[in-house]
Amino acid sequence: MKRQELLVAALENGTVIDHIPSNKLFEVVNLLHLEEMKTSITVGYNLRSKKMGHKSIIKIAGKFFSDDEINQLAVVSPNVTLSVIRDYEVVEKKEVVLPDELRGIVKCANPKCITNNEPMKTLFHVISGEKAMLRCHYCNKEISLEHVKLI
Ligand SMILES: [Zn+2]
Repeated sequence: MKRQELLVAALENGTVIDHIPSNKLFEVVNLLHLEEMKTSITVGYNLRSKKMGHKSIIKIAGKFFSDDEINQLAVVSPNVTLSVIRDYEVVEKKEVVLPDELRGIVKCANPKCITNNEPMKTLFHVISGEKAMLRCHYCNKEISLEHVKLI
């Protein structure tokens, strides 16, 4: 094990979220509602990474996420990887996949959009292409994935 990894405590059972761009750490925390969890969570912030320069890691004890929950992370950082840990061993590695639809996590950029004026969940369709774009279901406003604002 590399010294870097030792800085973050070993996990008996749970999920490790790795390769989070450090400036996106708090968005990941919000998206997964980690602040509401009762289990222990270890955060490694601004760790050195050969591939990324700096990255952050989150280790969540005793928690396993559904694919739907995990795939929401594609909105903030498509290169995040997840490891599922059981008995101190990685039993599964997952990559995030941008879903076809995003419900209730992205804010519409159109101030006149009904979702900005009524208490309702937003809904975006993902238009895949060279650069992923999102289209608001209600007002058809298109937003590039890089510029989305989370709710
Ligand atoms: Zn809209």
